[in-house]
Amino acid sequence: MHPVLLGILVGFLITQIAVFSTTLYLHRELTHKAVTFHRIINEIFRFFVWVTSGIRPRQWVAVHRKHHAHTDTAEDPHSPLILGWKKVQLMNVFLYRKAAKDEKTIANYARDLPQRTTDRLFYDHAILGLGLLFTGLVFSLGIITASIAFSFHAVLYLGLSGSVNSVAHHFGRKSYQTNSGTNVTWLALLTAGEGFHNHHHAAPTSARFSRRWFQADPGWWVIKALSFLKLADIRHSDVDKLAKRAPKSSDLIQI
Ligand SMILES: [Zn+2]
Ligand SMILES: [Zn+2]
Repeated sequence: MHPVLLGILVGFLITQIAVFSTTLYLHRELTHKAVTFHRIINEIFRFFVWVTSGIRPRQWVAVHRKHHAHTDTAEDPHSPLILGWKKVQLMNVFLYRKAAKDEKTIANYARDLPQRTTDRLFYDHAILGLGLLFTGLVFSLGIITASIAFSFHAVLYLGLSGSVNSVAHHFGRKSYQTNSGTNVTWLALLTAGEGFHNHHHAAPTSARFSRRWFQADPGWWVIKALSFLKLADIRHSDVDKLAKRAPKSSDLIQI
């Protein structure tokens, strides 16, 4: 295979590993407690998050809980209504970093996720995780293909993360008029279900983001498979039922 094509293909696969780890572990489990995975599955996800994104889980969780608590207000770390969707799309990584650096945000929204010894030694060092991935790619594919794969992954992952916060709060359809999130099918396909953002804001504690069987929510399919294998415990999965009841403070888990 041509090295450029191979690089793009490998880069896309790495992004998908990052996307699944983000939605299943960081988002559906740690942030909203919509599902609980087996300890071994969690360690695998944690490792994947580290090497594919360098994200510190407690920072991601805190920034995202703040987004849910203050959606489309001045307190929202990345609101397209306040900042415009283009700015959120292009500057998402900087908006995230600004919010993630605020110690008060972490203390307020991620008290249930203290820094562990393994965080101090390994996982809090993004350069180490990303360096490990890049080194592995160089040894297996050579420097040129590795560089293409790594760059393609970085651009795609950052672009898709930005799209969930910008496109899925600006374009698309709404099943529920109670929130500003929207449903964008192509984005859901590329982000393991995250594109059903209107459903998610209406029912944050649902492990399932889709409402109908034909709606692409690959993250949910993985949860179902892991649940069948007794490796996942699902808290809620009925978006409609949850959306119609009054929201509870535990929906955001601001412990
Ligand atoms: Zn949102
Ligand atoms: Zn959420």
